[in-house]
Amino acid sequence: MPAPPEPPLAVSPEVSPQRRPRPQPPGARRAPVGWQLQATGVLLFLFIPLVLYLFVRHPEPVAVSLGAGIVLMAGHRFLARPYMARAIPHKCLWCNRMLSAAMPAFDAATLTLDLVIDGQLTAARCCAAHRAPAARCFRFLGMARLPLRLGIFAPLLLLLAALAAAAAGHPQALPAATALFQLLVGLTVSAAAWGILLVRAPAEQTPLPVPFPAHNFFLLGVRSLLWIFRLVGAWWIVRGLSFFFG
Ligand SMILES: [Zn+2]
Repeated sequence: MPAPPEPPLAVSPEVSPQRRPRPQPPGARRAPVGWQLQATGVLLFLFIPLVLYLFVRHPEPVAVSLGAGIVLMAGHRFLARPYMARAIPHKCLWCNRMLSAAMPAFDAATLTLDLVIDGQLTAARCCAAHRAPAARCFRFLGMARLPLRLGIFAPLLLLLAALAAAAAGHPQALPAATALFQLLVGLTVSAAAWGILLVRAPAEQTPLPVPFPAHNFFLLGVRSLLWIFRLVGAWWIVRGLSFFFG
């Protein structure tokens, strides 16, 4: 099937001809097809609930659930990072919609938000109206990074240890470790998702560091991710509390 023609580049008349984007030479990387980019993002996101299912529900045999969860968790980044690189120029970081193919500098409807991802300055694109909420989110995550990291990794390590013990024939601690994992992670992601409402967007344009694996923010967009955190977080808090106090 022949590839669709490149969409015309929107250039405002004030831009001098020298600064206008040139047509891509043949063989240059084409803009990805919108639905394919979105569908790939959803598929890559689904790794996360699958890993959580394997760890939290740990279907028998537990050793297989644990091993598969670890392999998926470790392998995810190798698929999700190239996806992030492909998605950054084409999707709004906040609402996840496809943006025009025009170069960001020539498109008044979109802005970029400077992020520091693994030490590299990265200009993430977003709708003009969505730069402020995205900036607010990464500002809060940067401010609260230590308690948020602790609130995810400590219960995760505890659950992995309990799963390994169960796989070795000592399942006694697993129900409590699972409930504690859900309660603490539920509290942490709720704090992150509601906490961003407490801070203002930074006034200056200093690049904002991303203190968590950055690719996860580009799969469904930050707005959807935060709503998933709020809903699943509330559910897990209830599950955890009902185990200990129910
Ligand atoms: Zn947007």
